This record gives sequence, C-alpha cells and structure tokens, in this order.
Amino acid sequence: MTPRSLGTTERSARRGTNLPRVAEYNQVLVLDLIRRSPGTSRSDLVQRTGLTMQTLSNICQRLVAAGLIRESGRVRSGVGAPRIVYEVEPTGRYSLGLHIDPARLSLVLLDLAGSSVHSSTVATPESPGPSHVFDLIEEQIGALLTEAAVAPELVAALGVATPGPLDVEHGAVVGPPLLPGWGHVHLREQLAQRLALTVVVEKDSTAAAIGEVWAAPREAENLAFLYLGTGVSAGLVLDGQVLRGSGSAAGRLSHLGNIGHLTADPDGERCACGGRGCVAVASLPAGIVEAAIARGVLPEGADTRDARVVEASLAELSRRAEADGDPVATELLEVAARGFARVGMQLANLLDLDSIVLGGPQWPAFAPACLRLVPGLVNEQYVARADHEVEVRGTAIGGHVGAVGAASLAMSETIFDAPGQLYLG
Ligand SMILES: [Zn+2]
Repeated sequence: MTPRSLGTTERSARRGTNLPRVAEYNQVLVLDLIRRSPGTSRSDLVQRTGLTMQTLSNICQRLVAAGLIRESGRVRSGVGAPRIVYEVEPTGRYSLGLHIDPARLSLVLLDLAGSSVHSSTVATPESPGPSHVFDLIEEQIGALLTEAAVAPELVAALGVATPGPLDVEHGAVVGPPLLPGWGHVHLREQLAQRLALTVVVEKDSTAAAIGEVWAAPREAENLAFLYLGTGVSAGLVLDGQVLRGSGSAAGRLSHLGNIGHLTADPDGERCACGGRGCVAVASLPAGIVEAAIARGVLPEGADTRDARVVEASLAELSRRAEADGDPVATELLEVAARGFARVGMQLANLLDLDSIVLGGPQWPAFAPACLRLVPGLVNEQYVARADHEVEVRGTAIGGHVGAVGAASLAMSETIFDAPGQLYLG
C-alpha cells in the first residue's frame, strides 16, 4: 500500500512520466489535477505534469470513456483552435463514509467531485456489541444507496471513522473505551466481507481533520482539529500532511492526538496520571453533565455511562445556558470552553499552527461558549502572536465531518492514490 498522503503541497508537485509501465500512475495524476482545478485544459495539464501532448490526450480520452471526467467547455485564447477544458464527472464514481460514534452512526455518500450527495444518521444500537452495529450499518448503506439511486458498483470504497485505539495495520479497533462490548474488532475485514467493498479505517479525530482539509483546501495547512465527541481528541495536519505518528507502523496501536492528559484547568482536580485538571477529568462531556447534575441544573438519575444520555443531557445544558440564561449552566460550559482554549493554545505553541478547528458530534452544545471565548483566549496566550494570529473556527462541514473525512480518505486512497484500483483498459 502506498503511504497515505492526503495533502496539498506534496501532491500538487507530483510530475508525470512518459514510460508506458506507469500509465496507470499518470491517469491517477491527471484525474487528481482535474479534480483540484476544474476547467483545466490539456495544455495546462501538459505543463503541470511534464507529459507529452500525445500521452496526455490519450489519458484524457480514456478518462472520458471511463466516465470519470468530461469536457466542461472550450476556451479561446489568442490564435488557433479553442482549447477543450475538463472537469471531473461527479457521478462517475462515489465513496461512502461512516462515522461510528458511541452515540450515533453517521453515513455520507460523496461524489467524485467531493460533494456530499446524501447522508443519514441513526442512534447507535442500545446494546452496542459489534454485530448489532454491523447489521445496522449494512441496512443503512443499502437504504442510502437506494435513496440516492446510486448503483453499488459505482461505489469505490467505504471509509470508516472510529474512536481509537486503532490497529492501523489490520484496520481494527482494540477495546475502544467508549464502545462497551467491543474487544478486538477487525472492522476493515468484517465490513469488507459483509459489503463486498474496499474498506479504509481511520481514527475519528484524524478523519475529521482530513474532512476539513478536503472540503476547504488552503495553500499551507497547519491545523489541529479539536474533536468533541463522547471523548475528546485532536486530529493534526502539518504542512498539508495528515499526521499519524508511530502508531501507523506495523503492529502498533495509534494513539496520536490523545490530548486526555493535557492540562485544561491548572487548579482542577487530581487525575490518575498524577497531573491536575487534565482534559480527561475536567473537559469530557460525561463529567460536565455530572457536574451539572451535582449543581442542580440537570435532573438526577441520568446514566452518564450511556453516550446517548450524555449527548441529550449536554444539549439540554446548552439550551439552559443559551435560551434560559441559566448562570450555572453558562458557567459550566464556559469552564469547558476555557479548558479547550488552554489545550488549543498548548497545541498552537508546540506546533506553530495557522488554525484550530472545533467540531465533532458534541460541538453544537459547546459552540456558543467556545466561539465567544476560545479565539480570544488562544491568541492572548499564544507565544508567536506578534508574528501571526491563530484562526479559531467551528468546522465548515458540520455534524458529518468525521464521515465526510472518512469518505474523502476512501476516495483519495482508492481512486486518487492507488493506480491499481483504476481499471480503465
Ligand atoms: Zn491526567
């Protein structure tokens, strides 16, 4: 398998080659360039790839015949015949993205241009052992494709975003703490068998960061995605490259982006790790809901071990803060926002970030307090503030960001990164 590289800088600098045995590589390269720059012409492509006009014309013809690109018009510049310009054929191929969250399953269908054409969300089954969840996933994917009227053979792959820890080599989750009843589950193998699809598995926070970059690529991307789900973690992109850390090596578990023991509140409670006020004790949704119950803002009796109960309770706390102006609810959410700001500031200082993006399934409940406080707090304490500000924003994609990221990764790996997957004859 090729190294995963969903980045902008390295990829755009790739050059083609005129040797016949790498014809497939060239097709992938040309397709990717056309996706990134709709309305590009053959002479632009010749310039950007270094291929001959003859080779490039053959590739474009094959991509058109395969239904992956189409002529989007003709442009006249100077003398001579008008130039044909191309764009990808959005309906030429699709990818699916699935986000397995302890509270809910989100599913999206992306077209070849990267737009989300259909999506659905269901609650994660009450006894969330893997087999119940797999049954539901199979059913949901069937329903989504029927609703979107997309033939299954047009789906290139399924990307799955899941809580860690992740065994990257085998595409397996290993005892995720937030999914009761899940031991060592070979997600990639089991889903590939059930669905007869290529399956790519990624950690939820990393998938969210990929989704953000995919949806709105920028020149140089240095961002941390603060993923607020049942757990809290960070997905990291530096110099346009997604980071995966030592866990991407064979036989290791991926723990990259584990921010559980960064300090959210220096005066907070002791943590089992020996620190004080770690994210794991101060900023997790379940703990915030417990504090709200203890202070009488939320009714007693909620089972905070149940991710769906926590999600509903947190939403209610947010409603009390924003709609009712309840001072205790407001205080609890602002304390959480200050914790996320402190974590964001530590990451920005360490990694020299351009931006911090907040999102994930619990983001809507945290959004008002975070958008009020986090941008100012991060930049007040950011050491390089004399040189540049850190942009703090909410996700551009919304609640499906993990699923969109997984789908874009699946598309990138099977169509744009792996020449062997493109059989154009
Ligand atoms: Zn700790």
